[in-house]
Amino acid sequence: MKAAMTFLVCLLIGVAVRSQVTPDAKMNSFVTALMGRMTLDEKIGQLNLPGAGDITTGQAGNSDIAKKIEQGLVGGLFNIKSVAKIKEVQRIAVEKSRLKIPLIFGMDVIHGYETVFPIPLGLSCSWDMAEVEKSARVAATEASADGICWTFSPMVDIARDPRWGRIAEGNGEDAYLGSQIAKAMVRGYQGDLSGKSDIMACVKHYALYGAAEAGRDYNTTDMSPVRMFNEYLPPYQAAVDAGVGSVMASFNDVNGVPATANRWLMTDVLRKRWGFKGFVVTDYTGIMELTPHGLGDLQTVSALALKAGIDMDMVSEGFLTTLKKSLQAGKVTQAEIDQACRRVLEAKYRLGLFADPYKYCDEHRASTEIFTDANRNTARQIAADCFVLLKNKGNILPLKKGGTIALVGPLADNKENMPGTWSVAANFEKSISVLQGLKDVAGEGTKIIYAQGSNLDYDSLFEQRAGMFGKNLHRDHRPAAEIIQDAVSAANQADVVVAALGESAEMSGESSSRSNIGIPEAQQDLLKALLATGKPVVLVLFTGRPLTIKWENDATPAILNVWFGGSEAGHAIADVLFGKVNPSGKLTTTWPQNVGQVPLYYNHKNTGRPLEGAWFQKFRSNYLDVSNDPVYPFGYGLSYTHFSYSDLSLSSASMKGDQPLTATVTVTNDGPVDGKEVVQLYIRDLVGSITRPVSELKGFQKIDLKAGESRKVSFVIKPADLKFYNADLKYDWESGDFVIMVGGNSRDVRSAKVNWTK
Ligand code: BGC
Repeated sequence: MKAAMTFLVCLLIGVAVRSQVTPDAKMNSFVTALMGRMTLDEKIGQLNLPGAGDITTGQAGNSDIAKKIEQGLVGGLFNIKSVAKIKEVQRIAVEKSRLKIPLIFGMDVIHGYETVFPIPLGLSCSWDMAEVEKSARVAATEASADGICWTFSPMVDIARDPRWGRIAEGNGEDAYLGSQIAKAMVRGYQGDLSGKSDIMACVKHYALYGAAEAGRDYNTTDMSPVRMFNEYLPPYQAAVDAGVGSVMASFNDVNGVPATANRWLMTDVLRKRWGFKGFVVTDYTGIMELTPHGLGDLQTVSALALKAGIDMDMVSEGFLTTLKKSLQAGKVTQAEIDQACRRVLEAKYRLGLFADPYKYCDEHRASTEIFTDANRNTARQIAADCFVLLKNKGNILPLKKGGTIALVGPLADNKENMPGTWSVAANFEKSISVLQGLKDVAGEGTKIIYAQGSNLDYDSLFEQRAGMFGKNLHRDHRPAAEIIQDAVSAANQADVVVAALGESAEMSGESSSRSNIGIPEAQQDLLKALLATGKPVVLVLFTGRPLTIKWENDATPAILNVWFGGSEAGHAIADVLFGKVNPSGKLTTTWPQNVGQVPLYYNHKNTGRPLEGAWFQKFRSNYLDVSNDPVYPFGYGLSYTHFSYSDLSLSSASMKGDQPLTATVTVTNDGPVDGKEVVQLYIRDLVGSITRPVSELKGFQKIDLKAGESRKVSFVIKPADLKFYNADLKYDWESGDFVIMVGGNSRDVRSAKVNWTK
């Protein structure tokens, strides 16, 4: 009897122990066992992410890369497109390499795959997290149907300097909104990583890449830790909190140590403070670039990067070629190599690649899941929700169908530029131009006369630089006056002029910084000529950044900012121009009057000498030659209807402890049509142990209101919403007075004061 009892107890303990084997524990023992069989070279091989080179289907086996894969010297590859190619390469890894470790395949799937969504800066202007998540989900589905299991997205770099071209790839200037978007994107891409359409996200570029001095790409950043933690780091942390599987180190110097070698960033903050468990990859040649940064030769900088907390080396092959030597010389430890290797293997495990290396190699998916009608429709709807109506004097918009429209401008009949920057998987031929979109939506009864009207710019060399990666601008080599004349005569025959002007797709994005952020002069001259005809002119503005368009705003009755809308840009633009969709996008950046005002952002500090009242005042913080005002403030955007806001009411003016405060406004659609409004909540902390911004976004709700409808909109505010990082980098709130503000943009708000004590 006793023996039987003992047996039963043992059995029960055994069951209990077994049922405690968590997925993490299973992964750990799998990876530990695998690593036990790996040589040092094979471990270092897992840290190597070379460029894919010239892999062509059917010949991958003979490439240099193939030899390295066979020897176990490659951890993954990136930017190879198609299941056929990826499968062929994966087969080399799992059939010919000694330990059969599968490769991870990455790509820059930034704002859609073949079905392209608006550029991220545009997408952020939807303020619609469900749409943001949906765009990432569609992208993940399409990319995974084509063999990709890892995307180098989301890019969440806060940017307040529109000279920096990569502002196009991020979500604007605000850390709170950027954090919500970071989470939505990670959810959309990754799901729970178990499904065939779930791909691993890689939040980038950690950190502070968007604060490059003078807006020049790859330039230095130097910033106080308090500013970093309050204003720049939250979106990266939000992605980590959402479970992002990987992080990409940025190129830039951060307070004297480039991110790729910055142990404080990669280990102390990312892992110890935030608890990140995934792996860190460098950006393209990030390790090699530590040499020109001035940190030493390839062997030295590779060791620095590994010790800082980098796990995977994109392109440099510094890990591959030097870590063994560094280990022998005592410059790195076996434990450091093992840790990086473990993290890369864990990512592959989480993706399910050990269970099925061909999980993402289903040949049947591509034909039914990529660039489908459903995906294109989603892209069309989302794009229309991202456009920002900047001006609509005299309600020129929406256009009526019928009559004659003159459609002019270098971006009016151009497919290649519609997807915008970073659209590596797009087929430009399949994207919809404005001309096509207007024809499709307006139908037979509307006559459209097209004329290019100008080149992108007078300078043909500039135009070449602005038309890279196949994004042709179809330069017209005739004299400018002749080109403009075509547009003027088209305008003279029309009831209304639609001018599609602005930047080309590659005037923003990587290595596309500008010192002058206006519309190029050739196009300004065209716009002047069009306005001079006396016809009503609608400026359809293409851009990847906030532009300085003060005179255009003063002179043009209607401006619709359409960013780069993606595959369905032309249809979405036509949907909004003809009023099928009422625009509801709101800016996520401040638009300055001129470059001299940069950086201009809504959540600035007050200073000891703020300008109060009208500009100009001597000995106040302002300029002699321009006011402090932007052309358009953060959060701004018009609609074809009008929303009015009641006064703001607070559930209490005096709060104590953790109880929640409710702030309520009534928003009324008192215009003629149904519409969507982004109701925004801002808070100002009037007194702090450190200086606090004049306003901080703390919440928003995008609501649908029928014409004539009113709705109470409430925000529940908790002390957690009042927290900030103090001088000791402690995240907490402080008792005192707060101004609560609610409105349709950061400038036009209703406000009320509350005293809140601990
Ligand atoms: C960019 C990254 C990108 C990487 C891989 C780099 O030049 O900075 O954003 O993910 O290339 O293509």
